[in-house]
Amino acid sequence: MAANIQPPGFAPWPDRLRRSAIVLIAAALVLAGVTMFGGLTLAQALAVFLVITGAALVPWHLQDTLPEADDLVGARPAETPVVQALVGGMPDAALLLDRAGRVLHFNDAAAQLAPALRRGELALFALRSPEIIAALRQAIATREPQRAEYVERVPAERWMELIVTPLSLPAAFGGTEVCILLTFHDQTPLRRVEEMRADFVANASHELRTPLAALSGFIDTLQGPARDDAKARERFLGIMQAQATRMARLIDDLLSLSRVELSAHVRPDVTVDLVPLIRQVVDGLEPLAGERGVAVEVDLPSAPVMVAGDAEELLRVFENLIENALKYGASGGRVVVTLAGPVRGSGNGEIRVAVRDFGPGIAPEHLPRLTERFYRVDVGDSRAQGGTGLGLALVKHILSRHRGRLAIESVAGEGATFTVVLPPPRPPVRA
Ligand code: ADP
Repeated sequence: MAANIQPPGFAPWPDRLRRSAIVLIAAALVLAGVTMFGGLTLAQALAVFLVITGAALVPWHLQDTLPEADDLVGARPAETPVVQALVGGMPDAALLLDRAGRVLHFNDAAAQLAPALRRGELALFALRSPEIIAALRQAIATREPQRAEYVERVPAERWMELIVTPLSLPAAFGGTEVCILLTFHDQTPLRRVEEMRADFVANASHELRTPLAALSGFIDTLQGPARDDAKARERFLGIMQAQATRMARLIDDLLSLSRVELSAHVRPDVTVDLVPLIRQVVDGLEPLAGERGVAVEVDLPSAPVMVAGDAEELLRVFENLIENALKYGASGGRVVVTLAGPVRGSGNGEIRVAVRDFGPGIAPEHLPRLTERFYRVDVGDSRAQGGTGLGLALVKHILSRHRGRLAIESVAGEGATFTVVLPPPRPPVRA
């Protein structure tokens, strides 16, 4: 192997002879012509030819070490297409500057972030944020990597993280030169998740604090002014029990939600028949229906309807939807539960369970937000009904674990229809 390695620029002599062949043939023809017409003697012509041949075979270092034309876009290694391709291939917005802050290369993502960027111009013309300028100055002065965070306001609010990394690249005439690599990371999705988590904790503690405050208020009253008032004690204990039930329900819903979230990526692998499951839910809610004066009509097929699912979780889905219909749609006096499917030829054999009420319905502006945690159309109404604001969020999470979805349709004044759409069970894998 070592024998094949040539010092750069020293091609083997047969190669050099081959490359010079045209020159040598031309020289031979010219010399032969001149000799024929008596301009040179044969000996002189041969001597001239030998000199030309010798010159052609000398391993001219300069000639052979000239780089390919493609590598010569800029005089500096930092400006070669290789570096340009590396910057261009970076997944985040990236740009490379020279020591003076002039742009050498940038990728498409950086062009989107700062449309005014131009090669050869100062980057500061395009990147005006004071945080970027400060980090850049600091990196040039200290030659240490710098990190900065800033907010882009136009066209939409975005939280950005900037990393400024000074690099030592080979210089054109030996030695090294300092270049500055800027990479931008969009932190917006991370920030949004953090905000949602903070909102969730604030909401959950607020929801718990309200019944807790009521409980401790009543305890004070029972220990003080109402100590000997048997009638008031009876009433207050009733309210306290309702508040304690509400707290227990809230904690129960919170735990269910986090359990479902933890198993979100695991698709249930057992199959369950929806027909008896829905009947069980409707039977269990009969007392509530009676209390609210609502007639529940059930339209179920006679044959089993199988889905891949967790029976406990699906029970909660239908319990939540039918209970909501009984609570919020009671004024309609009627709730209809229909199970259809699997419908062949349409929707890939999907299974649909619709819960329809004839109550006041829901205004369209609320529909997209109903499955958010703690979102209620009317907070007072929901609390009065013992609601936690987590029911539909739980339904949505359970359905997404089952690769299903929830469709909500409503016309104000005419009631609402909540439809659960589930995929058919997967056929068993043959061994
Ligand atoms: P909650 O515990 O408050 O019932 P949900 O997540 O189950 O929480 O429901 C969120 C909100 O959606 C309810 O507070 C209510 O305002 C509205 N909602 C749910 N179902 C219906 C329905 N069938 N008719 C009218 N509004 C409804």
